[in-house]
Amino acid sequence: MTSTARLLIVGPQGSGKGTQGVRVAEALGIPVVSTGDIFRANIKEGTDLGKKVTAILDAGDLVPDELTSEIVRDRLSQDDAASGFLLDGYPRNTVQVGHLDAFLADSDAALDAVILLDVPREESLERLRLRATEQGRSDDTDEAIAHRLDIYENETAPIISVYEQRGIVDRIDGVGSLDDITARISTALAARGIGQLV
Ligand code: AMP
Repeated sequence: MTSTARLLIVGPQGSGKGTQGVRVAEALGIPVVSTGDIFRANIKEGTDLGKKVTAILDAGDLVPDELTSEIVRDRLSQDDAASGFLLDGYPRNTVQVGHLDAFLADSDAALDAVILLDVPREESLERLRLRATEQGRSDDTDEAIAHRLDIYENETAPIISVYEQRGIVDRIDGVGSLDDITARISTALAARGIGQLV
């Protein structure tokens, strides 16, 4: 078993990456670092950061790279992330990949695995519409949903080939029951020697 688990979960919005990320991180005893959650918490608390990003999130656009990377760098430097973490929603484009590489390299670290949740666009759209009616997220309008999926396809999907070249991507079928998908992820991570850390 490796002694670290620096992970990224990636997939289109509506792929279930948030839910699966929490399950995997809990099983490994590592924190989830979700940039979307950090932004939403700041908006809710009315912080300066929250005020800065409200309109960006509502439109489904990306928060500027420098600002986002700064926030992630601060979070990853906290003690609880020393032996591992699971990133959800960051990096989201190749510029952010460069930022993450640079600040992990400062501590001689790198990502150990990238979990890619494969879900067809139609299925993602369906799940997001359902979430919109259930949770009433302000960025879950039809227009913002379609815009976010476009950004995913144009800006986020290219990061996958970068990580594929490093041989760290595990492509997981994201259609099925929650338990089945979690089991698929655990199996893929175990094959890399990533298991229970606590
Ligand atoms: P998520 O919860 O990951 O779907 O993120 C919700 C929103 O937060 C996105 O639509 C973006 O507006 C913003 N956001 C989250 N992560 C990032 C990121 N890495 N870079 C830029 N914007 C982000």
